Amino acid sequence: MADPNLLAADPGFELTLRPPALDDFAGQGRIRERILVLIEAAKGRGEPLEHLLFSGPPGLGKTTLANILAREMGANLKCTSGPVIDKAGDLAGLLTSLEKGDILFIDEIHRLNKTIEEYLYPAMEDFRIDIIIDQGPNARSVRLNLPKFTLVGATTRAGMLSAPLRSRFGLVNRLDYYTAEELSGIVARSARLLNVEMDAEGATEVARRSRGTPRIANNLLRWVRDFAAVRNAGRVDKATADAALHMLDIDDDGLDEMDKKLLEALVHKFGGGPVGVSSLAVAVGEESGTLEEVHEPYLILEGFLKRTPQGRVATPKTYQKLGVTPTRKQQDLF
Ligand code: ADP
Repeated sequence: MADPNLLAADPGFELTLRPPALDDFAGQGRIRERILVLIEAAKGRGEPLEHLLFSGPPGLGKTTLANILAREMGANLKCTSGPVIDKAGDLAGLLTSLEKGDILFIDEIHRLNKTIEEYLYPAMEDFRIDIIIDQGPNARSVRLNLPKFTLVGATTRAGMLSAPLRSRFGLVNRLDYYTAEELSGIVARSARLLNVEMDAEGATEVARRSRGTPRIANNLLRWVRDFAAVRNAGRVDKATADAALHMLDIDDDGLDEMDKKLLEALVHKFGGGPVGVSSLAVAVGEESGTLEEVHEPYLILEGFLKRTPQGRVATPKTYQKLGVTPTRKQQDLF
């Protein structure tokens, strides 16, 4: 009989599945190689790592890599995020609490406000921060020296990072979507850790429909596990995975409800484009930032959408997917 606890919320889920070391981190081969070199070089010099930036859509492993770096360097990791630091004092507090070699991880670093960003420049470059204390005629600048730390930034919008901030990172790494094969490996590993009985075809089915993203793969696995517990005595094979994912409205291409709404709006409401992202966002009831960061990159990668200077345009694959025959005028946009 199915264990009802399997269906309960599992808050430690991501933590359980997060690969602790570079050896367990699948894919992103080029980035892994660079990191290995950096770590060895830094250790050889007895110096902290240089500042690193990770960019790419959510759920590809940016936070995981920051954790791995800290562990491999034997350093402490402090985590914060761009929008949380809204006063120079917050940043000063964070920086002065660091010890030599510590890693400061700033998620969503493109959302730091400009004033804070300017405080960060000398901290990154010269390991000092100048803060203004007091107000009016008594206002004066005080220089604080900081221990040599490593800043690891993560961003879903590399394009929104200012050039001066970007140039202060020693290494800028763009994470790519994972291949179905890499994701199958990740799903199989997660299944082992969660004690889920799953065959290779079941893992492939979940991987194929995870939009190239480990976080989605793990979340789908959790759902498939629950589904299998109730419907198939806990065993996950291809048919069970397929039935479970169909129940979540995830189709054979891995597109979810929002992806489909977006394509439908593009074709049915905007005649296949070109249309601006903000109009699309209003039509589907989602923020344009989320469309740009989360949905569009995958749709573009898979050829369901084209970004042009005039706006978003449907592709032959979009029409095929929706079962619509494009007009001559629409074909001219391909
Ligand atoms: P991001 O910070 O880019 O949004 P995370 O680092 O939080 O993404 O990754 C989300 C989850 O996906 C992690 O908890 C981890 O379980 C899984 N994950 C990410 N990258 C990998 C990888 N390369 N190998 C295995 N699991 C991964």
